[in-house]
Amino acid sequence: MMKIELDITSINDWLNFPERPILISGPCSAESEEQMITTAKQIVKYFPNNIFRAGIWKPRTRPSSFEGVGEIGLQWLKHVKQETGMLVTTEVANSKHVELCLKYDVDILWIGARTTGNPFSVQEIAEALKGIDIPVLVKNSLNPDIQLWIGALERINNSGIKKLAAIHRGFHSTEQKQFRYSPLWSIPIELKTLLPYLPIFCDVSHITGKRELISIIAQEAMNLNMDGLMIETHFNPDIALSDAKQQVTPDKLYETVDQLQIRNPSDKNKTSLNKLDGFRIVIDNIDSELISLLTERMKISEKIGSYKKENNLAIFQVDRWRKTINRSIELGKSFGLDEEFVKLIFTRIHDESIKKQAKIMNQEIDPEIINKLFSP
Ligand code: PEP
Ligand code: MN
Repeated sequence: MMKIELDITSINDWLNFPERPILISGPCSAESEEQMITTAKQIVKYFPNNIFRAGIWKPRTRPSSFEGVGEIGLQWLKHVKQETGMLVTTEVANSKHVELCLKYDVDILWIGARTTGNPFSVQEIAEALKGIDIPVLVKNSLNPDIQLWIGALERINNSGIKKLAAIHRGFHSTEQKQFRYSPLWSIPIELKTLLPYLPIFCDVSHITGKRELISIIAQEAMNLNMDGLMIETHFNPDIALSDAKQQVTPDKLYETVDQLQIRNPSDKNKTSLNKLDGFRIVIDNIDSELISLLTERMKISEKIGSYKKENNLAIFQVDRWRKTINRSIELGKSFGLDEEFVKLIFTRIHDESIKKQAKIMNQEIDPEIINKLFSP
């Protein structure tokens, strides 16, 4: 791996917040002045040092979605700052956004996932920031490519921005469905290993996509000694114009942060990660993915069971089974997995699948009896 150096100022010099995690919370989008002020006042009661976030220009997949309120939202952000004393932050995606944010005294800028994936846009923002002293937070790109993330940090740093941090917001994945964006912890771990002095925030809202999972991911971020959390917060999440499912109320935000177990960084080197914790987090994440894939597989088995029942087909078809198991064994071998191990795992999966189908075919039989029939 090539050597990477960023010339940055310690976060303690520009954000003198002793508590961990450093919190960035506020709505996904600025919707109205009332929504901003109400949400901000509720948050600041719990967290006077919160950095208040709100998206002014929203990158939406389809043009018919709410695309943000634009410049007027910056005025509301300024009012939040005046009324609560919190620092405020928003996403910038081009030089015009930068110019407007500076005009309205936004304290911290962040670069969104879609922008990080486009070096032209990052360069445009970097040029607009030349000679300006403002902190910039860089989210990872949607595709799991650490080089794009590092490249964006370098471009911004090259234009003279020394108050820099990264935000881990999860990655697009076609495989796992448990989270909205897969955390792929090994990527932020690698970033921290390459750049131990770079602060990292974890945007738990965009990783999870649903508020029920926020505590789990926030705790994992704390286990990895990440410096802060970004959590989308709205006084009434259900009426939010964007990302309603993942936003929490300020009360819930307090409860979530209050329950976190904050780990001490290792004594010797304050910024270094505990490697073992890092590996364990990766293992936990892989296990979650395995569970999610097994669930998907069983759902398909049930569909097959119903089809076989309707068409009066046998559950167990020996040719198909032979082909499946051999295919898995060969595939496993090609990746260096032990043949016996693959055979054992897939035989158990197949047994479970047959059991599920037997329950569908024989709905008149007590499922407990079928369980016994198929117990290994
Ligand atoms: C956001 O923070 O609301 C947002 C759009 O984030 P991302 O760029 O991570 O999708
Ligand atoms: Mn959002």
